[in-house]
Amino acid sequence: MNSAWSVEFSRIFMLLCSTLLFGVVSDYWILSVVIHSSFYIGWNLFQLRALEKWISLGAPSESAPDASGIWELIVQRLYRMQKANQETKAHLSSVAGHYHAVMSALPDATIVLNRQQEIEWTNSASQALLGIEAEHDIGHKLTNIVRDSMLTELLNVDYDKQELEIISPIDELKTLVLTKVHYGDGKTLITARDISQRIALQKLRKAFIANASHELRTPLTVISGYLEMLESDDSLPPTTHKIVNNAYVQSQRMDKILNDLLVLSKLEEKGYSESSGDTVDIPVLIKRMVSDLRDTKAKGTHTIELNIQENLLVRVVENEFYSLCQNLLSNAIKYSPSGSVIKVCWSLNEEGSACLKVSDNGEGIARESLSRLTERFFRVNVNRTRKVKGTGLGLSIVKHILENYGGFLDIQSELTVGSTFSACFPSYRIV
Ligand code: ADP
Repeated sequence: MNSAWSVEFSRIFMLLCSTLLFGVVSDYWILSVVIHSSFYIGWNLFQLRALEKWISLGAPSESAPDASGIWELIVQRLYRMQKANQETKAHLSSVAGHYHAVMSALPDATIVLNRQQEIEWTNSASQALLGIEAEHDIGHKLTNIVRDSMLTELLNVDYDKQELEIISPIDELKTLVLTKVHYGDGKTLITARDISQRIALQKLRKAFIANASHELRTPLTVISGYLEMLESDDSLPPTTHKIVNNAYVQSQRMDKILNDLLVLSKLEEKGYSESSGDTVDIPVLIKRMVSDLRDTKAKGTHTIELNIQENLLVRVVENEFYSLCQNLLSNAIKYSPSGSVIKVCWSLNEEGSACLKVSDNGEGIARESLSRLTERFFRVNVNRTRKVKGTGLGLSIVKHILENYGGFLDIQSELTVGSTFSACFPSYRIV
């Protein structure tokens, strides 16, 4: 048994003995019981009062009540619990302080919003990037401080991990990318990262590609011209003629690459508004292109089947749509066997977008390559496709054209079965 309880029981035992002794000696039994039990109750009440006073002071170790027996045990237990609580509190507050310091030191602006989109917490980077000051702006709506309709839209959509590019409200030379994540009970975490350097580098890269392509074209045109002249010279020995012909073909390919790179650079510079472009009679344009193809050897022995929704016109730049259509159609011809059927369909899809679908039953594309098809210079199975003329830039051009119009390219393909490329224009482009 616990020693505190032994002390308590021996104390009760002594009290009982004293009660008996007093009763036997005086013969006042009731008085003896009343005196002894009053003494015991009074003493316990005194200990209880001391304990309550000590607890009300926060149970400090230096003024612990001087108790014995069971009361000493209770004081000890309470003291240990209090100490453990204090240690846990200190540990938790040091952890919280540590995380607070980490979040405050983050180079990205970090803002916590409550359910009403009011700022609950923000770090110091928010001031430098978004002009949000913790002292004044906590409790205010984020959209009242950063006034941008796109931000309001970002906050009002339900899904997570949305990204938005905006110009910093306090420094127009800074471009920020905002990310939104929902967490906890209706809280939203917004982070803003400065991507100005990345954008500047991208601009530099685009300018370099555009300038290099432009500068290389002039000397290449001269070389190509001489090679063409030499190639048509019948007096050349057959071996030399073969070499010249090879060099001429390669110079043509290089010219096509430079041309495509220039087209891409121009497309990257453009950004169309919803109303830009002319109304183009796409059905007529597709039919013209297919009939142009039928007259050239590029079509080979393929059969092209048309399924066109006649009244479906969209607002685009005509030569861009032509280029898009030509790229998809020439790919279908290049990557499917002679004699096979290519289907070209122009119609509305289920979401109401106007889509140009080009389907072939050619070699198809492996699943792991699908996501890379629109990368510049990406060609599936380079050794095999090298025999097929191409630059690896066609689908990149198609993707850029569609992005400029707010559209998208969908690719469905299965190896040895065939592929379907769908170029879709948003419904607001339909006239
Ligand atoms: P390329 O000039 O090489 O055709 P693209 O950008 O147009 O360049 O196409 C990229 C690659 O995608 C091609 O090299 C080819 O491997 C693959 N590809 C494109 N269209 C098809 C298709 N209809 N069927 C199979 N593979 C295709």
